[in-house]
Formats: sequence, structure tokens, C-alpha cells
Amino acid sequence: MSNLIELKVPDIGGHENVDIIEVFVKAGDTVAVEDSLITLETDKATMEVPASHAGVIKEVVVKVGDKISEGGVIALVEAAGAAEAKPTAVAPAPAPAAAPAPAPAAPVAGSYTGPVDIECDMLVLGAGPGGYSAAFRSADLGMKTILVERYGTLGGVCLNVGCIPSKALLHNAAVIDEVAHLASNGIKFGKPEVDIDALRGYKEKVINKLTGGLAGMAKMRKVEQVRGIGAFLDAYHMEVQLSSGTGKDLTGEKKVVKFKQAIIAAGSQAVKLPFIPNDPRIVDSTGALELKSVPKRMLIIGGGIIGLEMGTVYSTLGARLDVVELSNGLMQGADRDLVKVWQDWNKHRFDNIMLESKTTSIEPKEDGVWVTFEGPKVPEGPQCYDLVLYSTGRAPNGKKIGADKAGVYVDERGFIPTDKQMRTNVPHIFAIGDIIGQPMLAHKAVHEAHVAAENAAGHKAFFDARVIPGVAYTDPEVAWVGLTEDQAKKDGIKITKGVFPWAASGRAIANGRDEGFTKLIFDAENGQILGGAIVGPHAGDMIGEVCLGIEMGADAVDIGKTIHPHPTMGESIGMAAEVAKGVCTDLPPQRKK
Ligand code: FAD
Repeated sequence: MSNLIELKVPDIGGHENVDIIEVFVKAGDTVAVEDSLITLETDKATMEVPASHAGVIKEVVVKVGDKISEGGVIALVEAAGAAEAKPTAVAPAPAPAAAPAPAPAAPVAGSYTGPVDIECDMLVLGAGPGGYSAAFRSADLGMKTILVERYGTLGGVCLNVGCIPSKALLHNAAVIDEVAHLASNGIKFGKPEVDIDALRGYKEKVINKLTGGLAGMAKMRKVEQVRGIGAFLDAYHMEVQLSSGTGKDLTGEKKVVKFKQAIIAAGSQAVKLPFIPNDPRIVDSTGALELKSVPKRMLIIGGGIIGLEMGTVYSTLGARLDVVELSNGLMQGADRDLVKVWQDWNKHRFDNIMLESKTTSIEPKEDGVWVTFEGPKVPEGPQCYDLVLYSTGRAPNGKKIGADKAGVYVDERGFIPTDKQMRTNVPHIFAIGDIIGQPMLAHKAVHEAHVAAENAAGHKAFFDARVIPGVAYTDPEVAWVGLTEDQAKKDGIKITKGVFPWAASGRAIANGRDEGFTKLIFDAENGQILGGAIVGPHAGDMIGEVCLGIEMGADAVDIGKTIHPHPTMGESIGMAAEVAKGVCTDLPPQRKK
């Protein structure tokens, strides 16, 4: 007589409706006690569920993509009379190395049959922070790795024309501003003399030091760079048109690389709106970073972080700024109370902040670039500028790499969607960084890179970060992570918050910079921290602690009772947590809630 037993999900630590990402058994299979049946994925870990009884599987009730909780039936087994395993709680999956990479759902055939110049285990396309991190991790995990990059230096946008050069210039601007600020403390320096060629040289030196370091580390790992523009020929071959010089010059030679797996990290480019004419005085962020001269009047089209950071540099060097922004506020994404502090501190830099406004015409003439605006508070008639920076966003490079030939899906905007293991729809081809979506940030790209390389090496890794911080490296800096207060209000999420004003911070007052504040946002029901934001000098250096708190599920007591060094600005994080609990003694007594 048949003896059908239900194989169920045991205690999985209280997780509900957990994703099934792998099913190891099918009807007809013979399983022993403790054989793996399925893999579950929570937002923090993966875990394999073992069989509680041995026998022959008669029916598998679940499939990949289903959700299941404790007690859910996985399969029916015809018992073989073997002893039942004691139902135990499922432990998180062991170290990733033990788990094989999921087999490709549908192997993609290669159609290219021509000659091949190089063969490798892993091809990485693009050497930005995503690409070089992916290549280095792949090599460290034992894969023969080829890095295809059109430019002579590694580091992509971030090191060559993004994060690093902008910060090199911002650092100099911040020192100039700080020195000027000292006048009110009785310390006066003369007006700074800026040698713009030397300043540009400093920025180049910073870039060269970092990109040179990357080249050295690539060599140590035996990661070979094939320099040129890569495009897929099929799902296992890439053709590279070799480049030289600045990277725009092609030599006319080609190389074909055959790969077993690939990681696409081809990044993004600045969006140029169609009505913007070509003129050397109209630049994107790359052009602005060239720092050819200091304009008298500069227009920033687009009031996001990149534009405002560049505006800060040029303004400190002497330019008057106008900014035009389509939405109703600058630095969208951050809470308005933070932006207000930044805006009040920086109002001296701007002649016009044009919100809910647009540019209707741009006409380069001999005496300058003449621009007309439309909006509620725009200057009348065309305005003349010496430099116009357009910083209206970045577009992914997904449509420029022959992805269709490899069968890789690219959406209509040029993004390449991936799963949490960074796999595209073609399982042995991964994608990471700006090319897969927002937020377009270097630290996101690097984390995704490691996940992709580890999965390619047969480990089991997931991009499951709860939060990704954002920072505007302006003066003051504005940093935020996780749930913002404005978003909580919009979504009707019940929160409690703790705000510590820097006007009560001994260190901020000693520094003469007490305009900022630190804000923490907690879940009103379970008390866990959901978000945080800081405005003030070095806010970006401090926000990491809030990220850690969110990842660890900390509450206000955990953070408030963590002893922070005194006197530091970091202390303000502990104090904001104390404010949320009503126990801060560095502020007047709080009203009882
Ligand atoms: P990228 O850095 O864009 O690199 C892609 C690489 O691929 C490039 O080198 C490109 O040449 C190469 N490539 C593309 N197509 C091909 C092809 N077909 N063949 C060969 N090579 C190809 N982020 C931060 O986190 N913090 C910051 O402070 C910050 N500041 C920024 C300031 C500016 C001015 C800008 C523009 C960006 C800034 N960013 C910042 C964003 C950051 O630079 C990007 O998020 C990051 O560089 C993305 O990395 P990635 O690896 O995805 O691609």
C-alpha cells in the first residue's frame, strides 16, 4: 500500500513567503534523508531545505518563483521505510564556495565560426569601478580574465571623468572657502591666486596616481586588457576594434575574444538634449572637469548633484551661477529640510535659481551663449553666459554593445535588467553598474561586480543590500540613505524621528560650521532604523554608520548607547538616536510624547 508523506518546510526563523530560487528534485527521483529539495532566498540569506523522509518523489508541488512559509508542502514522497529526520531549523546556506552556480535555464548557442585571437574564462566589458572590480575578483577566484576597455586607463567614468576628479577640485574649493571663512575668526589671508593650469595639473596627478595603481593591480592579477571598442558577435564571442591615443582613435585592427562567461559593465554617458547646440562653451560634466578657464557667468542646466558639485567648484574660483531645473527643487531625492540648509549656505553663489522652469533656446554668439528660459521666476529675455553646463542625467550604454547578437535583453532606454545574482536573461552573461539601472553610483557598481564574479565562479552570491547611500559632495555636504522623511509622508509610513541640530554640537561650533543637522528615521512599530540623513561638512564620511545600522536592523537604543568619540560630528548620530528616545541631555528637555 502506498505510503505518501508530505515533505514540508521546517522552522525557517520566522521568515514568511520566502522565494524559492531552486528546485533540486523531480517526480521519480529517489531522495535520502537530508538531501536538498529546494533553495529559499530571504532578503539576507539563502538556505537549502533538506528532505525529512527518504523515498521516491511522487509529486513536486512547488516551482522556482513560488513563495513558501514554514509548514508549506514541497513534495510528496513514497516512503522507503527509512528513519524520519528530526525536523530541524534550516541553517543559512554554507559559505558560497560550496554551492554550484545555477545551470543555465536555456543554453545559448554560439553562432560565430570565424577565427579567434584570445580565449578566456571571463570577459569583462568596460573598466569602470564595476568592470575593474569584476575583473579583479574574477581573477582572484581563478578565472583567466580579459578586460575590454576602449580607453588607455582603467577606472571608467569614476576615476577619469567622475567621482575622483570632481572631488580633487572640490577639495581645493573647500579649502579656499574655509580659508575665507577664517576671516570672521580674525585670521585673514590675501585673496587666493589661482593658477588654473597648476590646479588642472593637480587633478590630473590624482587621476594618474589612481589609474596607474589599477594598472599595476591588473598586472599582478594577470588580468589582460584588450584595448578597444567591444561588441558581441554571439553569446560566446566578442569582437574588439582596437583603439589607441585618447581612445577615440581606432587603429583599424580587430581581435576576437572567445569567452566562457562575460560581465557587461559598459556604464553610461551624459544625456545631451536635442536642442543643445555644439559649441566649446557648452559642456557636459566631462567638459566642465577639463577646467579650461573660469567663466564670469555660468549656467547649470539641471539642478542635480553633478551640476551642483561642478557649480561649487566654478563659483569658488570666481564664477557667478544660474541654475535652471524642471522640478520644484534642487537635489531631488534628498529631504527638503536638508536641501534648505545647503541652499541657505550657498545663496551667495547664485544670481538665479530657476525652479519649475525650462530652457527654451540656446544660441551661441561671439560674445557668449545666449539662453532663454520659461518659468514662474526667470529673468526676462535671453541671458548671456560664458559657460553652460548641461547635467540633465545619464543614459546607459546598453544599445551600443551588440547585446542583441548575444541574445541579451536591453530595454527601450538602454538598461540591461538582471536578477539578484546579476545574471541577464542569458545566464552566463552578467551585467553590473550604471548599465543596469539607478542609482548610478560607483559603490553600487563595485558591490554588484563582486556578486557577479562570485556567481560566475560557482559561488552563490546575491545583491541584497537593503540600502544604497547617496551623497552630494557640495559645501555643506548632503548625505542620505534609506527611507527619507518626505517619502515616508508620501507613502503614509508611520515613523518616529530623531533630529540633532549641529547648533548643539560642541565640535560643529568649534569648527564654525553649526548650520547642519543629523536626522534618523525609525519604524514607529518595531523601532528599527529605516533611514537617515545628514547635512554639514563631511556628512558623506558619516553616513556609512547609518547604513550599517540599517543593514544590522539596529534601533535607537543600539545607536544611542553606542559610545561615539567626543567631540566629533559622528557623535551627532548617537545623539539623534537619543533624541528619538527622548533621552538626549545635550538639548533642552524634550516635551513628553
Ligand atoms: P563606467 O564608470 O561608466 O565605466 C564604463 C566603462 O566602459 C568606460 O570606461 C567606457 O569607456 C567603457 N566602455 C563602454 N562601452 C564600451 C565598449 N563598447 N567597448 C569598450 N569599452 C567600453 N558616483 C559615486 O558613487 N560617487 C561620486 O562622487 C560620483 N561622482 C560623479 C561625478 C561625475 C561628474 C560623474 C559623471 C559621475 C559621478 N558618479 C559618482 C557616478 C559614477 O561615476 C558611476 O556610477 C560609475 O562610474 C559607474 O561605473 P560603471 O562601472 O558602471 O561604468
